[in-house]
Amino acid sequence: MKIFERMARHEHEQFVLCSDTASGLKAIIAIHDTTLGPSLGGCRMWPYASEDEALEDVARLSRGMTYKAAAAGLNLGGGKSVLIGDPKKDKSEAMFRVFGRFIQGLSGRYITAEDVGTSVSDMVHVRMETRFVTGIPSSQGGSGDPSPFTALGVFRGMKACALKVFGTDDLSGRRVAIQGMGNTGWYLATYLAAEGAKLVVADIDAERVKRAVKELGAEGVTPDAIHAADVDIFSPAALGGIINDQTIPAIKARIVAGSANNQLADEGKHGDELRDRGILYAPDFVINAGGLINVANELVGYNKDLATAQVNAIGDIITRIIQLAESDRVSTHVAANKLAEDRIARVAATRHVRVRGLTVDPRN
Ligand code: NAD
Repeated sequence: MKIFERMARHEHEQFVLCSDTASGLKAIIAIHDTTLGPSLGGCRMWPYASEDEALEDVARLSRGMTYKAAAAGLNLGGGKSVLIGDPKKDKSEAMFRVFGRFIQGLSGRYITAEDVGTSVSDMVHVRMETRFVTGIPSSQGGSGDPSPFTALGVFRGMKACALKVFGTDDLSGRRVAIQGMGNTGWYLATYLAAEGAKLVVADIDAERVKRAVKELGAEGVTPDAIHAADVDIFSPAALGGIINDQTIPAIKARIVAGSANNQLADEGKHGDELRDRGILYAPDFVINAGGLINVANELVGYNKDLATAQVNAIGDIITRIIQLAESDRVSTHVAANKLAEDRIARVAATRHVRVRGLTVDPRN
């Protein structure tokens, strides 16, 4: 696809190509929409098979960030960057520093963070050249690991779903299946265990399951059986695409609420299918926004209490989406997209009032 066709398809504002032969940097920054504020999104490093594949990925991911920030109530737009290369072999301090200089050149239109293939230490190198970077270690005044905040948001969203489906948000005694005992899955499991929920867990890493069985009293099942567990709530916390043609007929849970990105293999089709089967789905990009909310707070001087309060509000956002889905007779996924698009349109409509030198706190 030609570049301007690709940009016009989802109304991307800007693609930036960055090259530095000395360090081997080949980067693409995609800025999707800055109506609400500067675009923010992680920097992914991946050995893309072609430039076309890299462009497609950065275009899709940056657009996703616009919706995520808008639904979370943040004054941030959507952006993302990709570095073409193998994170195991090709990384260097020079590569991330020169990347930081390109970001600085955008004067705040794009703010980066870590993502798949990049780490906190890479962001420390980016920060040597630009202040438009988040996800810095707490030892350097940053917000540290986002996973506990992502998990807290999932926990609040799950409670909002439980209130709708079971008439109470008390999760004690509820059976919850978690797919993936990694960073977010583990923290979520600890919050649920503390409330007295009964956990069923799976991971392709058997040691992680063992730990949950030992420390949290969870029941372990095989990875291929977790979606079909006899539980009240299914929480995907591993890879995308777990809600698909094969898994949907086997899901016994009445709620799907988890941290994983892109849970629906086909957004429209599988979102509708869950709804038709009476399964309440918490849209992934809304319920897993806790990590984004946390790093956004870094931009204005990190305050953990404030970040925590904002993450706790994810429960209220999920409740609004459930109500909107009901009144519009659409799936929760469609309602979440609408909530995000409506907010962007409403904020854009305020811009006819002319002001000089307005600075916006990106938190909200
Ligand atoms: P992680 O890598 O720490 O954990 C993922 C876990 O899933 C690992 O333990 C892995 O062994 C396991 N796993 C992989 N395939 C599996 C399978 N088929 N069955 C069972 N277990 C499997 O990752 P994470 O940071 O916890 O992120 C999990 C998901 O949440 C990802 O989709 C990620 O994009 C998304 N997410 C994470 C954050 C965050 O703050 N970390 C924020 C937003 C979204």
